[in-house]
Amino acid sequence: MNFEELMTDYVRRGEREKANYFLSLEKSMLPSHLKRVESGDRSVLKETVVPKWVSWEMLQEWVKYKKSAGGKRCALCELTAENGIEFMNKFLCDNCFLSIKNRA
Ligand SMILES: [Zn+2]
Repeated sequence: MNFEELMTDYVRRGEREKANYFLSLEKSMLPSHLKRVESGDRSVLKETVVPKWVSWEMLQEWVKYKKSAGGKRCALCELTAENGIEFMNKFLCDNCFLSIKNRA
């Protein structure tokens, strides 16, 4: 499961706080920590406070995602997305835009 699938899964299961944890994780990690996670250096876990439900694999997926994400943050689901539209001065990802459109 890649990072985006993981986040979508949390949101769908109503575990927004877990999705939010990852979205704010960057603030509690140093760039050097990210590099060490990427290179598979698990000793980084001793220097950062990571909740028990976060697995090493999830952390690695997160770093991979952070590096590849060039998109914008969606105003509704708060995930970073490449594709979406500006709607009433807010960026909406394709998924959220479609769900609004289908409701209207
Ligand atoms: Zn969205």
